[in-house]
Amino acid sequence: MSDFGGRPSAEELAAFRNRVRRHIAAHAPPSEAREGHRAPETAEQEARLRAWFAALFDAGFVGADWPAEHGGRPDHHPLHDRIVSEEILRARAPRPVEQVNLAAHVLLHFGSEEQKRTLLPRIRRGEHVWCQLLSEPDAGSDIAGVRSRGVRRDDGSWVLDGQKTWITDGHWADMGLALIRTDPTSSRHHGLSVFTVPLSTPGVEVRPIRTIGDAIEVNEVFLTGVVLDADSLIGEVGQGWSIIMAGLDFERFGIGGNVILLELLIEDLVTVARNSQIDGIPALRHTDIQQAVAGLVVEVEVAKAFIDDHVERLIVGADQPGDGSIAKLSFAETYHRVAAYGAGLAATARNSGSNDAHVLRAKERLRECWLWSRAYTISGGSSEMMRNILAKRRLLLPSR
Ligand SMILES: Cc1cc2nc3c(=O)[nH]c(=O)nc-3n(C[C@H](O)[C@H](O)[C@H](O)COP(=O)(O)OP(=O)(O)OC[C@H]3O[C@@H](n4cnc5c(N)ncnc54)[C@H](O)[C@@H]3O)c2cc1C
Repeated sequence: MSDFGGRPSAEELAAFRNRVRRHIAAHAPPSEAREGHRAPETAEQEARLRAWFAALFDAGFVGADWPAEHGGRPDHHPLHDRIVSEEILRARAPRPVEQVNLAAHVLLHFGSEEQKRTLLPRIRRGEHVWCQLLSEPDAGSDIAGVRSRGVRRDDGSWVLDGQKTWITDGHWADMGLALIRTDPTSSRHHGLSVFTVPLSTPGVEVRPIRTIGDAIEVNEVFLTGVVLDADSLIGEVGQGWSIIMAGLDFERFGIGGNVILLELLIEDLVTVARNSQIDGIPALRHTDIQQAVAGLVVEVEVAKAFIDDHVERLIVGADQPGDGSIAKLSFAETYHRVAAYGAGLAATARNSGSNDAHVLRAKERLRECWLWSRAYTISGGSSEMMRNILAKRRLLLPSR
């Protein structure tokens, strides 16, 4: 059974939702969050974003599941997290950085008391944004192929060398959580360790990568003779694989839990179909378009239902291996299909002239979401890898 106390009543949840809405209205940055353009582009945007994250922690809407001594709320319940996530997404406000949640989760579960005491408050104050330094040019799906190496010196300090790639938020993050091979004689998932790396350390070079949507979201990170104190190691030497695997399942559920984004995509799709014309009549009057939209709505409802079901099972301690992979696969593939269909319709249908600004913005968003949609089917583990995990862990199918 789970450790969660009594289920909040419907009235309590409604009151909580109202508090979240008021908080968003009062504290969220003024501009709309854009898919594929989540990282700040100016110092002013960055300051607003950090203040917004700190305000979410302050109000107890984020980090509520942390132990009370680190700022968590004693009355935390997973249904509150669902409400916070839904309301932030529906308001098109910036959502908390997934890599920060992941770092906090790793620190809480595997960090020393000193690491928790010094690093967690900085996350809560918005001072530390974290990135995840896992993937390498030859170690993506096959993360056990990590080659970046760490050598311990006589005084206990470490020297890191290597190359990481596709690092979300690396260009504005303060800290990185790095998976490093510390035993040169080891192979695969043995001999790996996890380090906290301040990105301002000499020898860390971040090279931004411009995305297809003309934004900087991901980066290459080069580590050349990076010297770290002994207390930068998280957990034990050689414990890296189990630390990162625990974190990855958490991350996958975090990505998959963004199902409200699917509802927003459908809203934009319907707006475009209603206000555009094909062959002289509104697109939404064509039977084939009606059928396609209805089919996509069914997929969205299925993805949402899985998340609702998972949360209910989590509450009673009945979550199952592979739930994070189902959530991520279902969200990412549905997102891609809806965005691709919507962007295609937006590109081909003629604007009918009504509600122009509103319709044009919906078209623009569908295009942006379509350009970003492949990021979801790859980052945090590709769809193919999610299917492999499900075949193995959920269906217990034999491996070759
Ligand atoms: C937007 C974005 C953000 C990212 N952010 C981060 C980050 O912050 N930190 C970080 O460390 N990494 C990050 N990544 C990296 C991401 O985790 C990897 O891109 C992903 O794991 C795939 O690895 P790869 O790119 O090396 O592709 P590969 O592993 O080379 O895979 C290429 C193709 O082969 C398929 N494939 C590979 N192995 C198998 C198999 N065994 N069975 C079936 N198919 C297979 C894959 O599904 C894929 O289609 C990010 C990636 C993206 C796109």
